[in-house]
Amino acid sequence: MIVPSHTFIATWLGVSFAGATPIPVEPDERTYNIDPAHIEAAITPRTKAIIAVHLYGQPADMDPIREIAARHGLKVIEDAAQAHGAIYKGRKVGSLGDAAAFSFYPGKNLGAYGDAGAVTTNDSQLAERIATLRNYGSKVKYQHQEIGLNSRMDELQASFLRVKLSHLDEWNQRRAKVAGEYLSGLGAFSPQLTLPYVPEWASPAWHLFVIRHPQRDQLQKKLQEVGISTLIHYPIASHLSGAYEGMKFPSAVFPIAEELSKTVLSLPIGPHLSDAQVEEIILSIKKSVLEI
Ligand SMILES: *Cc1c(COP(=O)(O)O)cnc(C)c1O
Repeated sequence: MIVPSHTFIATWLGVSFAGATPIPVEPDERTYNIDPAHIEAAITPRTKAIIAVHLYGQPADMDPIREIAARHGLKVIEDAAQAHGAIYKGRKVGSLGDAAAFSFYPGKNLGAYGDAGAVTTNDSQLAERIATLRNYGSKVKYQHQEIGLNSRMDELQASFLRVKLSHLDEWNQRRAKVAGEYLSGLGAFSPQLTLPYVPEWASPAWHLFVIRHPQRDQLQKKLQEVGISTLIHYPIASHLSGAYEGMKFPSAVFPIAEELSKTVLSLPIGPHLSDAQVEEIILSIKKSVLEI
């Protein structure tokens, strides 16, 4: 299965657990999402599907991905774990492929108070198969058609999510407002500082607001010194993780993914941030960048 070289490793792990092999494809250097222009070179007769990840809440460029998939008879799976509510050309992510995976890990835009997740699909047969797989491979109690697992969402998590779902749009709007402040506050400030690029067809869910800086570690340290915590998504590219050590990929190098792992920095973002906090973060970033 084709996967982005730059993603959270869970995208790859899902492929491995399905008994398939993740075949990484490099991202677009502006959006950080899988670059459709590089997908075709990675397709072989054994390829079954393309996984598009809407990383950081930015929708992946689905039209060319679907067009390539259709031409090669492949399925398209969306990893929408970071993108609840993101819109691609007027359509919500999670409705743009054969199936989509959402995560409700507490830190996501829509998070439970423990682990939870969901799959969306328009394919009723596939929906039934997934429902069976998540319940020990059983449709009727104690009759097991196949080797499934226990991956049910517990009802307390479901009830928390049901309440929180009604706030998702409002929380995403607040995230977009914060992102807008960052973009206008930091835009054109320093050639060293790279801000997120939003294509005109994208309405991101702003799960993360990821900037880049060549002296990322220094910048992170300076911000921490003034009490601003930032995170790195992700410090080690999946192909360099111990889990995939020794794996032979058709292409040996993924320079864009590696470069991103060294330069990305996620600023605080979320519906909880006040305007004053955002302003303070912007000022601190400007000050820190000038000092580096
Ligand atoms: C969080 C995340 C996952 C995994 O979701 P879980 O609910 O923790 O299994 C998968 N892909 C991406 C891109 C994620 O951010």
